[in-house]
Amino acid sequence: MLKALVIDLLARAKGKRYTSYDVVGTGPRLVTGLINQLGEKADLVTYEDLSSDPSILENYDVILLSAMSSDRGALKNVIRLVDIYGSGQPKIIGGPIGFEFYDILEHIGGDIVVVGEGENQLIKLFTEYKKYVIQQDLDKLTEIAGLAIKINKKIVFTGYPEYIRKDLLDKIRPYTQVNKVYKRTWMYRFYVEVVRGCSNFYRPLVNIGYRRNCIKCMNCRSSNLINKLWCPKHIPPGCGFCSVPFHFGPPRSRSIKSIVNEIKDLIRYGARRIVLSAPDFLDYGREDLVKPYPLTDPCNPKPNYDALKNLLSRLHEIPEIYSGEVKIFVENVKACLVDKRVSSILGEYLHGTTIHIGLETVSRKYNETVIGKPVGLKEALQAIKILRENGLRPYIYLIYGLPFMNYKIYKRTIKALKELYNNGVEKITLYKFVPLPMTAFEYFKPEIGRYTDIIRKLKRMVNRYNLLAKKKYFLDRTIRAYIIKENDKLYGYPVNHGPVVFVRETVLDVKEGDVCLARIEITDVKARYVFGNVISIEKCMYH
Ligand code: SF4
Repeated sequence: MLKALVIDLLARAKGKRYTSYDVVGTGPRLVTGLINQLGEKADLVTYEDLSSDPSILENYDVILLSAMSSDRGALKNVIRLVDIYGSGQPKIIGGPIGFEFYDILEHIGGDIVVVGEGENQLIKLFTEYKKYVIQQDLDKLTEIAGLAIKINKKIVFTGYPEYIRKDLLDKIRPYTQVNKVYKRTWMYRFYVEVVRGCSNFYRPLVNIGYRRNCIKCMNCRSSNLINKLWCPKHIPPGCGFCSVPFHFGPPRSRSIKSIVNEIKDLIRYGARRIVLSAPDFLDYGREDLVKPYPLTDPCNPKPNYDALKNLLSRLHEIPEIYSGEVKIFVENVKACLVDKRVSSILGEYLHGTTIHIGLETVSRKYNETVIGKPVGLKEALQAIKILRENGLRPYIYLIYGLPFMNYKIYKRTIKALKELYNNGVEKITLYKFVPLPMTAFEYFKPEIGRYTDIIRKLKRMVNRYNLLAKKKYFLDRTIRAYIIKENDKLYGYPVNHGPVVFVRETVLDVKEGDVCLARIEITDVKARYVFGNVISIEKCMYH
């Protein structure tokens, strides 16, 4: 039996987490589970555990590394460790960083990069091509679509793979024994994939150069869902900055049964916070409403209310979720799909939790024409208001430095912050535009220079409203959080998600490695985090 080691590098940046300390992404668990299902032996390890004991590397025949674009530094570190402590086994790299295969193989290292959805490639690598993987006969692997391979110093890309079928998604059982890998299990938010792919097949209707200027054929705006797949100028689908529709295709939802089974298992192994992960949670089951066509319109038809209700109600039949011991959250929603009916379903099952809406800029015209996203301030405000009325806590994403953004858009975005805050936004996350491969904007650089002053003002104002929101929703209130000790300092991760709490006083000595569920009184707030004192401890998970 082949022995594989899967290393979780997600969000490790250059080797340390700077944000999202409590997030465990789906990819490494999925790869580990799939290899085990294929009858081989796969173990999962975190970047931190591997770094503290790299000698384990010699026990494996294949090393798999799962990383995002921002994790180049951590990837480099691990490849160096494998080269020193490993036994010359092949290194297979995957995850969102896989789209940068040329750069990885040329400048970072590794032997094989899995590009796009990885299931089909992994199934082949660990079944009919297994002997070539072990023998490192890389030439033979060029028969598999969706790989980039370094052969004799040359990089061979075998072409983009087909999107995987919905029934295969349901058959895969991601690894769930999370208490063995993520030791302070209670504190983490475990992501569980419920929808693969995105429904936005609009594209930017602008001149993006490189022979990809839009000719306004309006295919991508057509009501014909098949036509939307095809752009005569080969402009990648979706928002101009995002590669999800290109790489993952239109939405495919996992069955309720497979989601429920995975979550039950995660709970059995100690998970306490679970995020139902999807580019848009409200796409769940929506593809069934347009069958047999692909779901390529972000806003029409409306959500599949029955599918959403069925999924959430089935999850609430799990005793630990029903009792509140385990919390579930959703990740992102599109404002144009939020209405009263769907908000009331979300409110019934997800009361008190956060929900993210991508607004990017407040200009509907810019968003729709330049970004390719048919949502503006009006839709966002309406969504925020209804979600807040139903007990959810809306977070908003904005971006600066996007192509063709101008002063007017920055000014309007700054002006709208107050309205967003007044309507109930709890947090505004402002990102810098980063060009990604296979997006419409891949060849643009962030436009910062001439807008430096107004971007600075935007950042300042976002901080101001984030601070006001922390005062409004957290100061002098008591929340429940999982607290941990690290480097002699105590940190709290809110049960219902929210800002990290820097704990100043506690009633109990929490040891490093322990996690305790505590009630914390918030005594001070900053724009990005809060301070508090522990007033009681409900229970602890000892290391
Ligand atoms: S982006 Fe492509 S599909 Fe859409 S209107 Fe322009 S040329 Fe046509």
